[in-house]
Amino acid sequence: MRILIIEDNESYFKLASHELKSVLNSPEIKLVQNEQAFLEELQNNPPDVIITDYVLPKFDGMKVLQHTLQENPLIPVIIFTGSMNEEVAVECMKAGAIDYVLKNNYKRLPFSVKEALEKRKVIEEKIKAEEKLKESETLFRTLAESTLIGIYLIKDLKFVYVNDQFTRIFGYSREELMNKMEPTDLVTNRFSKLIKTELEERSKNSDYHSNFIVEAKTKSGNQIFIEVYSRMIELAGEKYILGSVVDITDRILSEIEVQKSELLFRTIWENSLEAMRIVDENGIVIKVNQAYCELFEKTEEELFQKPFSIVYDESSKNEYIKSFSERIKKDEIPTKLEMTMILWNKKQKYLEARNKIITIEGKKYVLTIFRDISERKRYEEELIRAKEEALEMSRLKSNFLANMSHEIRTPLNGMIGFSELLMETLDGELKGWAKIIHNSSLRLLETLNTILDFTQIESAKIVPFFTTFDAKNIILEISKLFEQAANKKGLNLGVLCEDSEVIVKCDEKLLRRIVSNLVNNAIKFTLKGKVQIQLKSEADNFVISVSDTGIGIPEAKLDIIFEEFRQVSEGLGRKFEGTGLGLTIVKKYVEILNGKILVRSKVGEGSTFTVILPKQPALKS
Ligand code: ADP
Repeated sequence: MRILIIEDNESYFKLASHELKSVLNSPEIKLVQNEQAFLEELQNNPPDVIITDYVLPKFDGMKVLQHTLQENPLIPVIIFTGSMNEEVAVECMKAGAIDYVLKNNYKRLPFSVKEALEKRKVIEEKIKAEEKLKESETLFRTLAESTLIGIYLIKDLKFVYVNDQFTRIFGYSREELMNKMEPTDLVTNRFSKLIKTELEERSKNSDYHSNFIVEAKTKSGNQIFIEVYSRMIELAGEKYILGSVVDITDRILSEIEVQKSELLFRTIWENSLEAMRIVDENGIVIKVNQAYCELFEKTEEELFQKPFSIVYDESSKNEYIKSFSERIKKDEIPTKLEMTMILWNKKQKYLEARNKIITIEGKKYVLTIFRDISERKRYEEELIRAKEEALEMSRLKSNFLANMSHEIRTPLNGMIGFSELLMETLDGELKGWAKIIHNSSLRLLETLNTILDFTQIESAKIVPFFTTFDAKNIILEISKLFEQAANKKGLNLGVLCEDSEVIVKCDEKLLRRIVSNLVNNAIKFTLKGKVQIQLKSEADNFVISVSDTGIGIPEAKLDIIFEEFRQVSEGLGRKFEGTGLGLTIVKKYVEILNGKILVRSKVGEGSTFTVILPKQPALKS
């Protein structure tokens, strides 16, 4: 303990020191005698207690008190004086002295020092406690104002404290809220009853605490979701409700979104006609839908958490799982595949599967969508079989026709030759009959040729045989051949060609059949007027058109006349003879020769068939 004594009289100092030392536990005592020395000591070496004479040369006890209060108000000052009237004593006490001791009562000095030190201790502790309280209050305030949780205090249904975040959540200022608004003003109508019950009924319970989520409204009218924790507290004997509020709108909205998309996913998943399955990277089933259960004839319970291969036949199970694991490791899961599977119940299925790897939280899963294509496969197989059968039939038919052609042609040629002979040798009515036989045989031969041409188109590939010749010659020859038939109907058959020759490299036989068919039709369908064959040479093509002044073709029928067996006048009532194959053959031959055929016609006025053919066969690319 350090004691500083201010005393001008040495003997009083000795007396006081002696007394202090005899009672107190080895105090360290220092004497100063003037203001300067006192101040230095006070500043550099502050004592625990100051004992001062009241009357000192040049300064006094009052000054000591003032300096001490200024420098270190906690140091107790005891006035040690020879005499003191009451007024001065009161003044000293007012100025902050802790005690005064009269010099003649010097024995009291050590006890006064003890008391002063105890008092000082009490004061120090009080100050410390106050500081602590202040600190914790500051801490609480800082916390309350910097937290993202809204905090409120309610008394008698009114807000008596709200923190910054609370005002931010609701958009109202402290002034608007405090002592004015009630909690029910902050929630939507459908929640105001709940809040009333909380505050007016449930909170009557002394250990009330509650946690709830309500829909609230902000000053600007927005609806928000808040989570509230509310409890009863007592402050200075009064009851308050202390609560915290967190704005959880984003969380609730995203939960609603998640719920919505989950519902959507579930609806699609459960109602899909496609069988769907999700497995983990070891091939263990995580999820299957109803369609999957139906396709594989297993229940969801039977499949869940089992290797996907349990739906397949015993013999192949392990193999599937093994190849699946290997493939997923190498990232080689095929996105689409078709497979034939034997199921656990020995049923065979053709399946089309699509795989999609999904990564969730770093783990790989495979979504597979199956489609049962067994029916389609069977249908395809039947189609292929039917096509093969049809091809076989067609081959048989062609063979048959080739044989028949020979069988029919031989006697027919005999009939044509001998009827011609008869025509020359017979006279009168018999000559006429022989002519009928001859014409009929010719027509039969023509029909036979047409049918044979057609079957050849149908069954075998016709390979054109190109030679170089003068197309004009061919046209003139054909015209000659038909001259008689035209004359017989009183028709004028002419050839128009401005060039002296039109040299082409073409298949002569096919060209003859094309032109003959067209001229034959023109004469057949023309009752009066003329038939004209025109040949024109162009840069790369030569163009043959056969025009007549015949019955013409209705526009609606222009497309069908090139189809096999089709005629403008069909059925038993048809007016003209023919097979309906001529134009089919013409079109096919034109195509084989890389050409084009066009038709223009007007009913009652006539028709023009135009064939455009290349002068040179196209080079094969
Ligand atoms: P076909 O002459 O044996 O009946 P085509 O295939 O040669 O068979 O002709 C099909 C149909 O096209 C004919 O039946 C006829 O109705 C019509 N047709 C063809 N050429 C002419 C033409 N020059 N004038 C009018 N109609 C024609």
